[in-house]
Amino acid sequence: MRYRSTRGTSTGLSFEEAVFEGLAPDGGLYIPHSIPQTPLSEIHQWSNLSFPQLATKIFRKFISHAEISDADLADIVTRSFGTFSTPEVTPLKKLPNVAVGNGNGDLENLYVLELFHGPTFAFKDVALQFLGNLFEFFLERRNRNSATKFGITVLGATSGDTGGAAIYGLRGKKNVDVFILHPEGRISPVQEQQMTSVLDRNVHNIAIEGTFDDCQDMVKAAFSDQKFRRRFHLAAVNSINWARILAQTSYYFYSYFAVLRRIGTPSGASSYAALTKIQYSVPTGNFGDVLAGYYAVRMGLPIDRLIVATNENDILHRFFQSGRYEKKQSRNGSEPVKQTLSPAMDILVSSNFERLLWYLSIEDRRSTSSDADVCAKHASANIVQWMRELRDKGGFTVPETIFNSSKGLFTSFCTSDALTSDAITRYYHHQYTLLHEAPKPYHGAERPALAYVLDPHTAVGVVAAEQLVATSTTPTTSSIKSTHTICLATASPGKFPEAVLKAINNNAPALSPQRGFKPLTYADIAPRELVALEGLPKRCLYIQSPGDKLDALFAVIEDNVGAQFPAKPLSKL
Ligand SMILES: *Cc1c(COP(=O)(O)O)cnc(C)c1O
Repeated sequence: MRYRSTRGTSTGLSFEEAVFEGLAPDGGLYIPHSIPQTPLSEIHQWSNLSFPQLATKIFRKFISHAEISDADLADIVTRSFGTFSTPEVTPLKKLPNVAVGNGNGDLENLYVLELFHGPTFAFKDVALQFLGNLFEFFLERRNRNSATKFGITVLGATSGDTGGAAIYGLRGKKNVDVFILHPEGRISPVQEQQMTSVLDRNVHNIAIEGTFDDCQDMVKAAFSDQKFRRRFHLAAVNSINWARILAQTSYYFYSYFAVLRRIGTPSGASSYAALTKIQYSVPTGNFGDVLAGYYAVRMGLPIDRLIVATNENDILHRFFQSGRYEKKQSRNGSEPVKQTLSPAMDILVSSNFERLLWYLSIEDRRSTSSDADVCAKHASANIVQWMRELRDKGGFTVPETIFNSSKGLFTSFCTSDALTSDAITRYYHHQYTLLHEAPKPYHGAERPALAYVLDPHTAVGVVAAEQLVATSTTPTTSSIKSTHTICLATASPGKFPEAVLKAINNNAPALSPQRGFKPLTYADIAPRELVALEGLPKRCLYIQSPGDKLDALFAVIEDNVGAQFPAKPLSKL
């Protein structure tokens, strides 16, 4: 399997090259030359595999044997998911059946797919545990028979979750140093604790006086300084890295099978889709998670619909409403990015969306041309043009045919903070609305939970799912009932305790206290590993104004790893 840039100038890269480079030199994102379509009969054979076995099957299709052998791949995958606290890796749970609004939707078949059982309690661990092990594997192989050790310097900026997941994915790895920039005082105390309490020598946290965008700009500037980039072998772990997208396809397959098992596995592979409809609601920022779902569909998993759930930073929702992708402008000096209760989705543009646009473009062209190269060139030309318009004019509009085809699979919803908070309240307090009822006999495979604590990101996805079911135009109730909706749960509520505790404690319905509700504390909603972080020793460097912050960053990197990357080549090649 080879990789190419969405913008067309680089093609034929190996998986290893695509993973180490991250972003293509032409500014595009790497995508596989083709998406390996898998017949349903083969997919069916995967339905009872363990998570690591299943992930290995999927990843195998995108990585040639010459690059990683079967045994090595299985080993990398097993170690990556072995750090999760449950053998299921991403368990599927049934949500309580909480009626909404006018109550015309049937929400009986609503699930959460818990993606937060990794070391940092957010879904980014699924990808970054894998990426960390891939880096280590490729570096070890390069260094095996060489006297001089080849190492890399990972540099990234974080608004919270990515940095932690990257640090836990790379801590202690040989020949890798990782520098993560975060805006001082602007990430949550839990996230700050989590990152800075990692004391491994190869981990360097840097707090920057400024905003997340300032951090991001510094990282971009370092990557575009070619001399610096080459000398330190800079590598990126941000959400556009292909290995991250690939890693995330695994749980779409896994959860699809988990639903089928609950409702009774079909004996033959004839057609899953005829049996039931399975759709996913995905809380979205940079469009990485939901893009992985798109790849699963293109591989052949018969997912019925992907719901793109945004908070009020809704560039994607506006696209799926209108076909126009447009950055919000700052008005009257206000920041164009709105700070919401779901901060990991507070974005202005969605960096992975370019990949979907490329596929929509090439599909569109395929209706008029069968020449694969012609179609690919056309798609890349579109991307180059649109990204230029985005930069120069703040937005672009795609042709009608492309817009219409996007709606075949995707639906979007934008959720306000008020609705997010309301969902957290409803799903927790549901248990107190039931107490007066006699327990009903339940004939399903699994009794739904009576209460669930949603994190604010997950809540955005749940609200979107509820809205879709409620406004569904499906003609009969019975066909709605056969739809199962899986909401991706992207973080543990313990990572965002302020919003969660406020929603649950301050908005308790009048009946709840009478029926035994007591306000929750941090320890009630957080995994004990998170609670245990409080008070641990921390290590962090600070870059503060005044002065050139970029120079200061270069100096920090020089101080810490300069000796490993001599400024001048030791010998001329
Ligand atoms: C990163 C993140 C998201 C958004 O994921 P994308 O892949 O950027 O769409 C959602 N929820 C949480 C908790 C996250 O950390």
